[in-house]
Amino acid sequence: MAWTEDDAKWMRRALELAREGDVAPGKNPIGCVIVRGGEVIGEGCNEVDQRHDATAHAEIVSMRRAGQRLQCDEMRGAVLYSTLQPCGMCTMASIWAKIGRIVYGAGRDDVHPMYFEDRHLDTVDFIRDAFRDDLSLEGGLMAGECAALYVPPDADVPKEEQFNR
Ligand SMILES: [Zn+2]
Repeated sequence: MAWTEDDAKWMRRALELAREGDVAPGKNPIGCVIVRGGEVIGEGCNEVDQRHDATAHAEIVSMRRAGQRLQCDEMRGAVLYSTLQPCGMCTMASIWAKIGRIVYGAGRDDVHPMYFEDRHLDTVDFIRDAFRDDLSLEGGLMAGECAALYVPPDADVPKEEQFNR
């Protein structure tokens, strides 16, 4: 994948947000930035614990902020950057929000399976199967740096500490 300097710039911002989220109580280290026309229209980190809201993933938080800012639910032409491959919920929300391109850092195979809700379904399939043909999903930008934020794939995490149990 040939990444642009802008891609790297926005992923660095997502990493910053992820790290800010990590140090704040009740947050998980996932950062997201939504960019259109060279400017940020929404950004955020995971606020699930803080808000007591299972849908407050970094991507959803960022989409809500972008919607408020634009006063519009459609974000055609926007690029969503996330430090971790978006889950099924966030991928579907991106499809509904008419986001044009999703770029993520660490992929499903780079982190512990507890970060994903589904055993086998890959969000790549959601994109491939969408009615829209103007949406792309690209992963692996700064994958190593992003993956370092998360529990590695083969870590021995007790069942009761796994997010998707
Ligand atoms: Zn999600």
